Amino acid sequence: MTPPPVKIDIQPLLNKIAGINPKANLDLIKRAFEFAYAAHGNQLRKSGDPYIIHPMATADLLADLHMDDEAIAAGLLHDVPEDTKKTLEDIEKEFGHDIRFIVEGITKLGKLKYRGNDQYVENLRKMFIAMAQDIRTIVIKFCDRIHNLRTLAALPAEKQKRIAVESMEIYAPIANRLGMGEVKGLIEDLAFPYVFPDEYKWLIRKVKPRLEEKKRVVDEMITIMRVEMDKHGLKQADLHGRAKHLFSLYQKLLRHNRDVGKVYDLVAIRIVVENVGECYEALGIVHEICHPLKGRIKDYIASPKPNGYQSIHTTVFSPKGEIVEVQIRTKDMHEEDEYGIAAHWLYKEKRTLSEIDRQKYNWLQQLLDIQKHAETEQDYLDSLKIDIFPNQIFVFTPNGDVIELPEDATPVDFAYRIHTDLGDKCVGSKVNDQIASLNTKLRSGDMVEIFTDKNRKGPNPDWLEFVKTSSARERIKTYVNKRQLPSTPPLIG
Ligand code: MN
Repeated sequence: MTPPPVKIDIQPLLNKIAGINPKANLDLIKRAFEFAYAAHGNQLRKSGDPYIIHPMATADLLADLHMDDEAIAAGLLHDVPEDTKKTLEDIEKEFGHDIRFIVEGITKLGKLKYRGNDQYVENLRKMFIAMAQDIRTIVIKFCDRIHNLRTLAALPAEKQKRIAVESMEIYAPIANRLGMGEVKGLIEDLAFPYVFPDEYKWLIRKVKPRLEEKKRVVDEMITIMRVEMDKHGLKQADLHGRAKHLFSLYQKLLRHNRDVGKVYDLVAIRIVVENVGECYEALGIVHEICHPLKGRIKDYIASPKPNGYQSIHTTVFSPKGEIVEVQIRTKDMHEEDEYGIAAHWLYKEKRTLSEIDRQKYNWLQQLLDIQKHAETEQDYLDSLKIDIFPNQIFVFTPNGDVIELPEDATPVDFAYRIHTDLGDKCVGSKVNDQIASLNTKLRSGDMVEIFTDKNRKGPNPDWLEFVKTSSARERIKTYVNKRQLPSTPPLIG
């Protein structure tokens, strides 16, 4: 029996996007949906769902992260070139160059396979960013990955583990570095049960009853605080409970001898207000109702954490004597904490960063500087393209190790970087399984293989014309000089 065709409706998502960003180009998003829907046709996911559910879930997450309409459209189209008959050229014809550029980036990143090797994980992260070329590409990859993790149960165990480990090792740290705390927490929590199944089960057994109890306490306290906030004219204040992410809770427990009683922010109360003045007002109100625990008031507004994090934290006794952490912050601080770099995306006026933001993203400084000086729409679009490692590329060895090289480096540079002997004896190379000449300019993500001739005496002086690394250059020069020494007439005249 064939299942009845599922009717997929994009309208609820369009309504949601319009609610978040009234200026969003809904027509563009609708066209992207229809294009992807037609292209994926009857394809199904491993879970048995129609394929289109996946790009739609990706787009939905992008809307939650307040990404712009181009990013959402690209999210809908992200698997089209890889999995359907439609090509990048078709996408460009239909949606223009910028959307094609983002989708192309996602397709390239999809081919980047994580090969576990601790020593090179950091370079792999850099390679990921270097290849993305547009911050939005990375954010779409995060959303793609979050939905894939949510539906991981449908895959074979071995694949589950590989994807989950890669998510923890590569995706979560990059999200962290981009200041996207929520995304980082979400990715870790989704991967956690697959990477450390026993520890996960232990944690759930241990904290579940406590967590539920704590949620009840927090809800009661919020009700009381709400009344007081309203009385004091803080009607706009948003009060909500917030359970700690499971993986970060697990890490905290490891630091505290696995004693859940010592974790006061298992469920914290968050108070989000309009401005800094209201933060201190709210703090006063909280302390009027609940007695603060001594020495637990931390003012990260007056002195932000080194990563730029701002909020006031206080730990208080509930009326029934329970210990609860309260975090108070402005809307801007809240968005910055949850969305990080993405918080600056949707609203153009926010696309310049404060001093603190600059420190936080100092490795993105260059990008942000360009953005600030962008004068035209085109400048701005160009500025979204990242060149965080402007003069570096990252390539793979056949074992999956990641090697860092300067821009335009060649297989000869690669060979010398691995070992002098490999450089001296190299006679040919393969780049991405294709025979390539030794002066080929390598690009991030390439897999490079070197062929040697053990009878070869030393490097070819002609290589000096194209090598980019000083180590290769020095080695070749030394060899050439040594060889020429006898025939060079003495300079004494
Ligand atoms: Mn996908």
